[in-house]
Amino acid sequence: MTAPIALHFPVLDELAERTGIAVEFYDPTGARYGFPTFPYHYAPDNLATRRQLRAAGLRPDGHDPVAQILWRHRAQRRVAYLYRRDLAKPKWSASPGQLAAVAKALEARRTCRHCGITRPYYIPRSTGACLVCEPAAGGGGR
Ligand SMILES: [Zn+2]
Repeated sequence: MTAPIALHFPVLDELAERTGIAVEFYDPTGARYGFPTFPYHYAPDNLATRRQLRAAGLRPDGHDPVAQILWRHRAQRRVAYLYRRDLAKPKWSASPGQLAAVAKALEARRTCRHCGITRPYYIPRSTGACLVCEPAAGGGGR
């Protein structure tokens, strides 16, 4: 199982402590709404909506939301679910075609422009020549 994370928004905790005002839709324990709840713009940094994850190139990776954002819009209550950022995974994994393209590009960088032989090392960009064709290029200026 994954370790639980702390869910709260310190500024709102402080506000409630100092003033006794309970901010509407702030319910980090879920006591009021049955699910940990945060007001719009006051969600903890370690949580993100699906849309925010997508913007960061991430996806929930099958994990359920751990909290929600509630807000009012034209007298209606709206909800957005919050996912843990630390459990999110990159949205795309490289396809076989992409991997092949990368491998080809890396091989091109090891191929000498002069003799055409693919070397086990990267060809210096300055000369495009392997160390056999141009031994001085790789010698660190000796
Ligand atoms: Zn060469």
